[in-house]
This record gives sequence, structure tokens and C-alpha cells, in this order.
Amino acid sequence: MTSDTLENRAAALNAQLQGIDLRGRLAMIAGLEGKSVFTTSLGIEDQVITAAIGSARLDIEVSTLETGRLFNETVALIDKTEETYGLLIKRFYPEQDDIDAFAAKYGLNGFYDSIEARHACCGARKVKPLARALEGARFWITGLRRGQSGNRAETPFAEADLDRGLIKINVLADWDIEAIRAHVEAEAIPVNPLHARGYPSIGCEPCTRAIKPGEPERAGRWWWENDETRECGLHVPEAASVIPQATSLPLSSSIAR
Ligand code: SF4
Repeated sequence: MTSDTLENRAAALNAQLQGIDLRGRLAMIAGLEGKSVFTTSLGIEDQVITAAIGSARLDIEVSTLETGRLFNETVALIDKTEETYGLLIKRFYPEQDDIDAFAAKYGLNGFYDSIEARHACCGARKVKPLARALEGARFWITGLRRGQSGNRAETPFAEADLDRGLIKINVLADWDIEAIRAHVEAEAIPVNPLHARGYPSIGCEPCTRAIKPGEPERAGRWWWENDETRECGLHVPEAASVIPQATSLPLSSSIAR
């Protein structure tokens, strides 16, 4: 699809998705021509989406990025979710060469030392595996919500992802956290026990802490960085994302994708 076609298609989908509920949105996406992939972090929003896909047996591939640094609770939830909904969650792992190259340059936990190093780690453990998870996809479904952080406040239902050549669909863009929690309770959807311990947003264990009452939902992610726009590179445009290459890591900082 050309850039113009992608943008026009995304704009049309954005309008169509506004007036229907979650199940209707997902059913509509599943009926579109072309492969749809939902990438789940096993967070509470993503569990709502997985439950809807699994319950309706929709033709949508469910994938997760198994970074190697996840909480045990998150890893256990992958299995439990598969059992609950009778679906397969495809795991995408980082390449060992990329991890070795990162460790050689920055140290295994070097992501605490600089934003460059943190982006390089996220690049190796998340962004590159994501590219594999989205191979051949025409539609990428996410659980992004406008209320999660300031830089997600304008999240549309559908947007053209020109770097990846697909349409990204944020089926929960207009849901707030109260609606999410109520839905989880009503539908008895399994969620990560860490949510009840003060972790509204859960990523890799070394980079996630519990938040204090009144803090923004994503304040516990990469909390040592004093930057309101901090993200892992999965949901930022090309220019803002830094992705390492195993062959270049020891010599240069990283490359922009
Ligand atoms: S969240 Fe932390 S451990 Fe996970 S990939 Fe990013 S920097 Fe690495």
C-alpha cells in the first residue's frame, strides 16, 4: 500500500471504529482482508482485548514480546491466559547476538546509565522482536489508551504506521481505567496480580516499579528518567526510536530505524 493509501484507509477506519463497541471493533478488524496481529504485554488493557478475541474465536493473531526480563507473574499469566481462552499467544524473543552485543557495550543492566543505553536495550529486547511479530501484518492492534499518559492523549482509533507499512488500531483508545477495571471484574478476566500491588503499567522487571497514590499511570516505567515522553520505542515514530544492531552495537551507539 502506498503512503497515501495507508493514510486514507486509516482515516476511514478511524471514523468507522468510533461508533461501535470493543467486540464490534475487533470483529470488524478480523473481517478485513489481510493479516491482523494483536501484540499483548499482558497488562490489564491487553487482557481485555485478548479475552474478547479468544471468546469470539476471532481470526486475529495474538503475540507477545518475551523480553527475557519480564516479571514471573507476567510469564505465568501468558500460560494462564492461553488456558482460559483456548488460544495460542505467540512468543517473540530477542536474538542472543543482540543481547550479547548490548551487554558487551553497556553491561547487562546498563540501561540505568543513559537514555541511549536504555533505548538500545528496548531496541534489542522489544523493537526488533516486534518487527518479527508484525511480519506480513496489515493491521496491528494495540491496547493504547488516551488516559495512560500525556503523550498518548491524542491516540486515534486507527493511524497509518508508515515506517512499518501497516495500519495501527487502538481499539481501547477511548476507554478509561475505571471502565477497564469494571469490565475485567464483570467478565472475570485473569489479570496480572501486580496490578493490585500498585503496578498499573507493567513492563520488564528491572524497569518497572509500583507507583504512589496520585502518580500518573506510567510513572513507574523507567522512573529514573526525567522525561514525560519516555516510551520503549514500540509506539513512537522512527525518528524518536533507537534500535541496536548486533553487529554495530559494540562500535557505535545504535542506529535509528
Ligand atoms: S524495559 Fe528495561 S529491561 Fe526491558 S527492554 Fe527496555 S530497558 Fe531493557
